Amino acid sequence: MSIFEDTAGKVARRRPLRVAVLGCSGSIGMQTLDVCRQHADKVQVVALSVHSSTEKLVGVAREFGVRHVAVSDASHAQDPVLQELPAGCELGMGPQAVSDLAVLDDVDCVVSAVVGFAGMRAGLAAVTAGKVLAYANKESIVVGGDLLMPQVAPGQLIPVDSEHSAIYQCLVGERHADLRRIWLTCSGGPFYGRTREQLSKVSAADALAHPTWNMGAKITIDSATLMNKGLEVLEAHHLFEVGVDDVRVLVQRQSRIHSMVEFSDGSVKAQLGPSDMRIPIQYALSYPERWEAPCMPVDWCFEPALTFGEADESAFGCLALARQAGRAGGTLPCAMNAANEVANAAFRKGACGFLDVERIVSFVMDKTRVERVDSLKQLEECDAQARAWARDAIREVTR
Ligand code: MG
Repeated sequence: MSIFEDTAGKVARRRPLRVAVLGCSGSIGMQTLDVCRQHADKVQVVALSVHSSTEKLVGVAREFGVRHVAVSDASHAQDPVLQELPAGCELGMGPQAVSDLAVLDDVDCVVSAVVGFAGMRAGLAAVTAGKVLAYANKESIVVGGDLLMPQVAPGQLIPVDSEHSAIYQCLVGERHADLRRIWLTCSGGPFYGRTREQLSKVSAADALAHPTWNMGAKITIDSATLMNKGLEVLEAHHLFEVGVDDVRVLVQRQSRIHSMVEFSDGSVKAQLGPSDMRIPIQYALSYPERWEAPCMPVDWCFEPALTFGEADESAFGCLALARQAGRAGGTLPCAMNAANEVANAAFRKGACGFLDVERIVSFVMDKTRVERVDSLKQLEECDAQARAWARDAIREVTR
């Protein structure tokens, strides 16, 4: 089944759209709330979750007068600030409480900005309950796409990832059968052009100075290793039903072209615009409409030339590993993602080097026995095993 409508006009969205913002304290979550503020006549925030940032949660809950909140890390249950939630606001603790928000009767649309595989349960719950899913949680599509995508009705899942939003926008009104290839654009990350020798010496602080996009820490490191692009190749493969090798990574240093789609007649459509995540977030909420811009438009008369290039998979091994996992399919992307989540966090803490991230991912992928995906429980076991192996690998490389 394709995630596109036959015609965009068929979709009727309730207005105001009642949204739950899961992972509201992170970069995507906060930018989502910004869009909601700007379009308060069209969007109403009714539920919020955070992992542990209870202070931010309470501030936002009071501002929007939300009725339901959840904190996934239950060790924050006694945070005194929670006493200041608005009157009548229901508070849930633990991961299940987050999934419960996704299926509430008074929620029409779930914006999932949860980072990592942890967002999988809530995403599945939202889709099964027939909610519109504005989905920024790429890891769960990569890991659980085989479970998630068959449940998704046309027009139900709108990607928030800027590249995938661009692809979606290029495909509205087209036939899936005419799609030949996807050109997934990539800024190249902060270490574009560096050699392996140079990469062996970079630190997390160097990586966190990303040139173009304003993003959270985990994805910023993934952008530096190009694992983010690898995850996005697999995300596109699942969302748009194209082969892993029909998603080509295109380095576009100016980050103005957010991705392109090539059709069977050789025509290519691209989506361009400001490098501001609020645009794809807003599109997921406004679809099939378009609303007033959340940021300054680009004056194209004064733009520098757009350049194109190939990603260097020999220097940035994570991209090649992701492709390899995608070609094998089954549980291998799950193991790869889990290993990357562990290695990414270790690199951020200074517990391993930059190139160790791909060594750890590769080590875990080699140990994984690939199975066909048939349940969430199986994915959770694969995820836990891969994390344990990744922690062993970190001890190994840092000895
Ligand atoms: Mg992206």
